[in-house]
Amino acid sequence: MSGCIFCRIVAGEIPSKKVYEDEDIFAFNDISPARPVHILVIPKKHIESLAHVTEADTPVLGKMLAVANRLATEQGSPDGFRIIINTGRIGHQEVPHLHIHIVGGPEPVGPMLKKV
Ligand code: AMP
Ligand code: ZN
Repeated sequence: MSGCIFCRIVAGEIPSKKVYEDEDIFAFNDISPARPVHILVIPKKHIESLAHVTEADTPVLGKMLAVANRLATEQGSPDGFRIIINTGRIGHQEVPHLHIHIVGGPEPVGPMLKKV
């Protein structure tokens, strides 16, 4: 999708700090890191959000999770990490191209969400 910022990153039209790439997946450092390790893992194919995946996307989703684990370990969060997939309006998704956030580092990332 030509107007999509993450599609443009995959195409090399917008610079990014790439940490991994294969035929299906691209991973790069978040431009505004929330923790010392903050990596985004995306499918190269434009999928708007987790709410838009189909049965055909399940292999790439599985691969994204497996790659996320490996990248977290390699990139400075070997003792655990958190995966976040913001989805849609309620999930406060800002970029409409499916992405996994990997957050971590040497210190615990803190409790999950403030309880209501
Ligand atoms: P979300 O709220 O889940 O849609 O998160 C979008 C994330 O993309 C945010 O953490 C942004 O900091 C990050 N982001 C936006 N533009 C870029 C960019 N050009 N390069 C790297 N990360 C970006
Ligand atoms: Zn896209």
